[in-house]
Amino acid sequence: MHQYVFDFSQGSKDDKDLLGGKGANLAEMTRLGLPVPPGFTISTAACRHYLTTGFEPDELHRQVGTHLAELQERVGRRLGDPEDPLLVSVRSGAKVSMPGMMETVLNVGLTDISVIGLAAHSGDPRFAWDSYRRLIQMFGTTVLGIDAENFDDRLEARKKSRNVDSDVELDVSDMKFLVQEYKDLVFAETGRDFPQDPRQQLDLAIRAVFDSWNTERAKIYRRQERIPDDSGTAVNVCTMVFGNLGSDSGTGVAFTRDPATGAQGIYGDYLPNAQGEDVVAGIRNTLALADLEQLDKACYDELLGIMARLERHYLDLCDIEFTIERGKLWMLQTRVGKRTAAAAFRIAAQLVDEGLIDQDEALRRVTGQQLAQLMFPQFDPDAPRELIATGMAASPGAAVGKAAFDSATAVAWADEGEDVILVRRETNPDDLRGMVASRGVLTSRGGRTSHAAVVARGMGRTCVTGVDALRVDPGARQFSTQDGARVVEGDVISIDGSNGEVYLGTVPVVPSAVVDALHGESVAEADDQAPVVDAVLRLMDLADQQRRLGVRANADTPDDARRARRLGAAGIGLCRTEHMFLGPRRKVVERLILARTAEQRETALEELRPLQRADFTEILEAMDGLPVTIRLLDPPLHEFLPDLTDLSVKVAVAEATGTPDQEAAELLAEVQRLHEQNPMLGMRGVRLGLVIPELFALQVRAIAEATAELRSRGLDPCPEIMVPLVAAVQELESVREMAQETIGDVATAAGYELSIPIGTMIELPRATMTASQIAEAAEFFSFGTNDLTQTAWGFSRDDVEAAFFPTYLERGIFGVSPFESIDAEGVGRLVSIAAWEGKEARPDLKIGVCGEHGGDPASIHFFESILLDYVSCSPFRVPVARLEAGRARLSDERS
Ligand code: ADP
Ligand code: MG
Ligand code: MG
Repeated sequence: MHQYVFDFSQGSKDDKDLLGGKGANLAEMTRLGLPVPPGFTISTAACRHYLTTGFEPDELHRQVGTHLAELQERVGRRLGDPEDPLLVSVRSGAKVSMPGMMETVLNVGLTDISVIGLAAHSGDPRFAWDSYRRLIQMFGTTVLGIDAENFDDRLEARKKSRNVDSDVELDVSDMKFLVQEYKDLVFAETGRDFPQDPRQQLDLAIRAVFDSWNTERAKIYRRQERIPDDSGTAVNVCTMVFGNLGSDSGTGVAFTRDPATGAQGIYGDYLPNAQGEDVVAGIRNTLALADLEQLDKACYDELLGIMARLERHYLDLCDIEFTIERGKLWMLQTRVGKRTAAAAFRIAAQLVDEGLIDQDEALRRVTGQQLAQLMFPQFDPDAPRELIATGMAASPGAAVGKAAFDSATAVAWADEGEDVILVRRETNPDDLRGMVASRGVLTSRGGRTSHAAVVARGMGRTCVTGVDALRVDPGARQFSTQDGARVVEGDVISIDGSNGEVYLGTVPVVPSAVVDALHGESVAEADDQAPVVDAVLRLMDLADQQRRLGVRANADTPDDARRARRLGAAGIGLCRTEHMFLGPRRKVVERLILARTAEQRETALEELRPLQRADFTEILEAMDGLPVTIRLLDPPLHEFLPDLTDLSVKVAVAEATGTPDQEAAELLAEVQRLHEQNPMLGMRGVRLGLVIPELFALQVRAIAEATAELRSRGLDPCPEIMVPLVAAVQELESVREMAQETIGDVATAAGYELSIPIGTMIELPRATMTASQIAEAAEFFSFGTNDLTQTAWGFSRDDVEAAFFPTYLERGIFGVSPFESIDAEGVGRLVSIAAWEGKEARPDLKIGVCGEHGGDPASIHFFESILLDYVSCSPFRVPVARLEAGRARLSDERS
């Protein structure tokens, strides 16, 4: 018989697959002897069974019964008991935490009868009826699917008629009144009474938690976070403890370090006389956790002791949910906490200093994506600005955009290319789409642990919460402050998630201190970015010591080359040359392509030669001593010719107006002749080089002359010539012969030998399959993974990304675009076969990657696993690639 139900005392933190994160950690805390209310966990296997078959496993009902009986025995109370009822919470909890995405029902077990028992036994009728109304509300929305607004409206109406602001001011008669209203609502909406059988409540709640795995918002979240769709959630049934039993009770959330900045200290929110979600929902503004010391010193001290213990146990930042019931502390949840990028770097460095983790582990704890976030710009500290309010710094960054007051508007504007700031009183999980679409999120309520804050941090969105001074009026689509500032929908505002400030209008942004430091500039100690910068530099050092992969940059201009070098690039892996033939030079290239006589052609070449040589001299000089892989001309011919449509119109108009343009007509005929249906697969790359050999010859000569010139100035230029779009070794041999001849000519003229390696892009499937032949003629391979992805899949990026990628992603045909992360199974396999066979044929063959994948963390890990020599990416991604290349050495993905 399969065991689907486990007591909290039966598991540990390593059982996340089976018990979900929440269940595994409840078990761990129970094992550590911490005060956890007793309970049991229904495994993810039961959920998967339910999700695939539509039915709970047969044994489940009985197993829940057995554990419930044991629980009742243990706590000496019974579900539904008329005297002293046991109440439980039914809580979701998947393997990977999905904050606020799935459902939890509190106070299960209350009925018309047991509520009277609870009132009598607790001596607090208001509390009992408050708990009952919460149950009907949560059960009504979660299990019965009634719109939450229905309940909220009735609560708001009651508060209004009693002329009070907050639910704590409602008394027992109000609660009884609301219970009746809610029950009527349930009947009206579902045609049935609110269930009075506690076991039935329990079973329905369990099923609802299973079902909540597949709510729309949970699916979106999983897609966003790349969590597999089929793992399912566990269900935790946990004895209720009550934070709403008066002012000596309360509920809170705490962090062992600041999840926003990584600073050490006491961080969290506490709300007296409240239950569960109240803190997170931002219903009332919370107290700082430190204030709990005044309210209840004993609990406060105990909590701090537990937090320190958890950190030493988990060796990481933990976040915690707790409840105090009449002076007794209960732990309801812990997990290794989410954190901002800045906090991740600082905490990793701190934990090494504290001797809790070693350097390799520190490197595992930070990611390239986090580093990229820290490289985002920040507000210019010297720019004038109009501060209108200050709230909590919930998720860092500088965001500027038009204020939108609901998610639909935010999404619509973002689709039009606008920058948007989503402004809400508080967010709820339905705002997810709006948050994804926005640059930043601003809420008037909630703390650093509110839904808005947690989700924004997870997504790397800038967020400011709890701006008390804001009066947000979603109906009128505007907000105002006490000082009279008013922002209507569409007005531009700026928010600073690092200090919680809100400004009117646009505040200019400046580069981050981390970028300055990575560029080699020193950062003032007083700068509040200094601790983060410090931690980043330390971890970059560790990564550089660790990594095997070289990191180069894709750079086409001297400026980019210099920038890449300062950011730690060990050379240029891809220097494109097409832009050198555009702009004012395009006309010359046009003449070259259209030349009728050798003489015309020679004149055009003469004109281009010195320009091209100057291009290379500058780049090689900027990269002195480091390899620069220069790709010979790659794009289709038509990119250098006038647009076919424009030209046709011009010729037609000229004819129609009786002034035919002979020259334009001839040009048009030529353009038509060269027109291609499928330029991507047409005359480009090496094909063009073979048809118009003067083009490549020109480039090779310019490279060789630039090299000779720099050498004569005492420098050490290291160019490498890369031939694009080779499919067959014969193509490469042909170009190679020509190139060597040209280089030889230049060397003879210079009077010394010039050795310039010649290699090729591998970007066509045929090239990968004939790599051992091609390697005979190539001193290096550089995988052009963009084109290789296009040609391997048989689709062109520009055409497909908008047309059907959304459908493909939705259907799970791929989890992430193959242009973003290398498709390891298909394209990656071609790469690894070609790399392997190439090296076999020519052991000193150097192998790199120059597609955009070179800067993508997942792809870098793949390239490390197949032991390539280097990756090349855009200059700004170089630090990210260095970090990930170091991290990749630590994982055991190597084949
Ligand atoms: P989430 O995953 O959204 O955090 P939880 O299952 O942790 O959902 O529960 C929601 C809220 O209810 C939390 O604030 C939690 O602390 C509280 N809660 C859950 N179970 C209990 C319980 N047995 N007693 C008191 N409060 C509870
Ligand atoms: Mg929780
Ligand atoms: Mg290409």
